[in-house]
Amino acid sequence: MIKAILFDLGDTLISEESVGDEHMPNAKLEKVPHTDAVLKRLRGKYKLAVVTNTSTSKENDIKLALRKVGLEDYFDAVVTSVDIGHEKPDGEIFCEALARLRVKPTEAVMIGNRIKTDILGANRLGIISVLFKWNDRYPEEIGSPLEKPTYTIGSLERLPRILSDLERENENSRNRFKVSKQ
Ligand SMILES: [Mg+2]
Repeated sequence: MIKAILFDLGDTLISEESVGDEHMPNAKLEKVPHTDAVLKRLRGKYKLAVVTNTSTSKENDIKLALRKVGLEDYFDAVVTSVDIGHEKPDGEIFCEALARLRVKPTEAVMIGNRIKTDILGANRLGIISVLFKWNDRYPEEIGSPLEKPTYTIGSLERLPRILSDLERENENSRNRFKVSKQ
């Protein structure tokens, strides 16, 4: 059963172009299309966290930035690499997010725009991974089976559908288990 969704920040929730070289809370900040609608649908149903590699920003800086674009209240946890001392794809940063949300890796879905950080890190821990490819900023290639996302989407709008498909699959396998036990 899926209980939590982990979101990358740059080019997953907030456009990297709108941040530029500015310190996160001082930047212009533009949301990626459909963030509000999608987060509104997921909030309450799942625990939500931001898991982000930052160069200087700490949890409070990211919370300020999220507040500036009206997204702060959707999230139960904000985990930055600067605070943790490890960057994605390192397992530590994902484990910290899972621990704060009190869920197991298999109960979580990670969504992000980078194969070498978001997808690889999630896959190594057995977290379902969603590659969100909506622009061509990072031309990355899948280099190994562990870098292969469970799902790939081009719009955030597709995420709720993936989650409901996963729920249906879980439901079906529970029912199959019940039948086979009889
Ligand atoms: Mg990113």
